[in-house]
Amino acid sequence: SAVKRTALKLGMIPADGIGKEVLPAAQRVLEALGSSIPKTTFIPLKAGWEEFNKNGKALPEETIKILKEECDGAMFGSVSSPSHKVEGYSSPIVALRKHLDLYSNVRPVSSIKIPNQKSYHQCDMVIVRENTECLYIKKEELEIDSKDGSKKAIAYRQITSKASSRIGKMAFEIALRRGKEREIAKKSGKSVWWNGEPKVTIVHKSNVLSVTDGLFRESVRAIKEGTDRYNGVKMEEQLVDSMVYRMFREPEIFDVAVAPNLYGDIISDGAAALVGSLGLVPSINAGDDFVMGEPVHGSAPDIEGQNIANPIASIRSAALLLSSLGYVEPAARINEAVDAVLSEGQYLTPDLGGKSSTTDVTDAILKRL
Ligand code: ATP
Ligand code: MG
Repeated sequence: SAVKRTALKLGMIPADGIGKEVLPAAQRVLEALGSSIPKTTFIPLKAGWEEFNKNGKALPEETIKILKEECDGAMFGSVSSPSHKVEGYSSPIVALRKHLDLYSNVRPVSSIKIPNQKSYHQCDMVIVRENTECLYIKKEELEIDSKDGSKKAIAYRQITSKASSRIGKMAFEIALRRGKEREIAKKSGKSVWWNGEPKVTIVHKSNVLSVTDGLFRESVRAIKEGTDRYNGVKMEEQLVDSMVYRMFREPEIFDVAVAPNLYGDIISDGAAALVGSLGLVPSINAGDDFVMGEPVHGSAPDIEGQNIANPIASIRSAALLLSSLGYVEPAARINEAVDAVLSEGQYLTPDLGGKSSTTDVTDAILKRL
């Protein structure tokens, strides 16, 4: 929510791999905004696999403390995970989501015409994924039949009205905000694909799972029905299978989609495939009190340390962070600069068929700003 601040403090957690290359790029872009955002202090913070190997903790207490007590928001780079199970190590990003109660993962997927790219889908949507429950509570049981040794595995799926309502509210708030962002874009002469009123699509499978998905659906519907605030936001529903089909057939018909954890995970990776490179897709982990930007990609060990990682996912995550903190116009400026560089096609990293470095692309974006 928009709070009047005279200064901003952002925790910067590059963590591992290309996170250490793309996060500084995002910081340079934020710094270039100058006085259009409050004076911003960046606090470097430790976490990750390398940190674990050095000091024995993937997520130092100091990092959590500073984030909680001092920061208005944060940016996370990427974390490498060991391929084998290592005693004492667990993913710091999962722990951060818990500590900061970041109950949603918000992933905008938007396409832009990039010269020489083969696949192109007209798409500008946001997937809002519940981040704390569903099948991912990881409550599984294995029963072995004492007579014939056959096995039976059971996974519990938890859906609560509380978690479903808050993710629903998040989706409607995002739809409102996107409406506002589109108005700004239109004023500056940019064409926007979605010309209708803001829309939230509830993704579920309540025709089969009437108790769990039924509760999710009902809880989200009640958010709109319980207030006038979202009168300008349309609400529709898609069964998850039909959602996948339509998203690949006509992604342009979606604005904001909200889904329980598992469906959200699957459809958001699918949607990322529509736009061409993992290096383009941003996300934020958001709760009521805290927001953390994070590119969707991982630590990309295959290209680490070569200054060729695409910084755009990270830069767009920074824009998303600003927008969530209430700085909609500076965020729009970042996104416009990114889009201009992409559609011009002169400065592209190798994942998009170009020859430019991380630094070149960042410089080009800074110039546009
Ligand atoms: P991790 O275990 O940390 O997820 P990974 O090996 O799965 O590491 P990802 O980061 O998920 O690697 O990336 C998958 C592929 O996409 C890799 O080939 C990587 O080089 C490429 N990739 C990911 N992010 C970027 C980026 N920002 N720019 C260019 N290529 C990228
Ligand atoms: Mg990966």
